[in-house]
Amino acid sequence: MPFTLPALPYALSALEPSIDATTMEIHSQKHHGAYVTNANKALEGSKWAELSPEAVIKQLAEVPEDKRGPVRNNAGGHVNHSMFWLTMATPGHGGGGEPTGALADAIKDSFSTFAHFKDAFGAAALSRFGSGWAWLIWHGGEKKLVVASTPNQDNPLMGKAIAGCEGTPILGLDVWEHGYYLKYQNRRSDYVSAWWNVVSWGAVAANFDKAR
Ligand code: MN
Repeated sequence: MPFTLPALPYALSALEPSIDATTMEIHSQKHHGAYVTNANKALEGSKWAELSPEAVIKQLAEVPEDKRGPVRNNAGGHVNHSMFWLTMATPGHGGGGEPTGALADAIKDSFSTFAHFKDAFGAAALSRFGSGWAWLIWHGGEKKLVVASTPNQDNPLMGKAIAGCEGTPILGLDVWEHGYYLKYQNRRSDYVSAWWNVVSWGAVAANFDKAR
């Protein structure tokens, strides 16, 4: 089954003023659409085309070398963006605030306070040179949450040897300029600050429950 572009669970303007509707339209349709198209092209006719995109990137090291680069970038991009859209919601209607329950407890266990976690995550987002992602990752072996960043469309599911970090991502922030340049230009830190207002902690908690 070829991968398909998922429909957003909200209107293109739902994340304003943090993320403007035009950026959401270009990002969720054109950019994400290109990752889907190019991942399908790279995988067409191979046994990898039968797998979920997450399963493909978990087994990236086994993908034939001539396809590995395009699969890494495009199946990675598909996985990353699919999660990104679902972990955001309209400010005040599921978006923003703070986590509760088991996720809040795990953040406290791993980072001591929610504020410390935000600082660490923000630092990962701002220090990622060029294009990439900041992540909150559940590390099953160590039973803790960690913050990391990856370049390009790499995902922690690809494993440490490829992505430089490992575990199950439960929240990711796209820091490619295509995600913020129309509204924020060079001000990535303003984008990161505004993005906290649309993080859907309910969706992140659901990811956490699945991961652990
Ligand atoms: Mn993007």
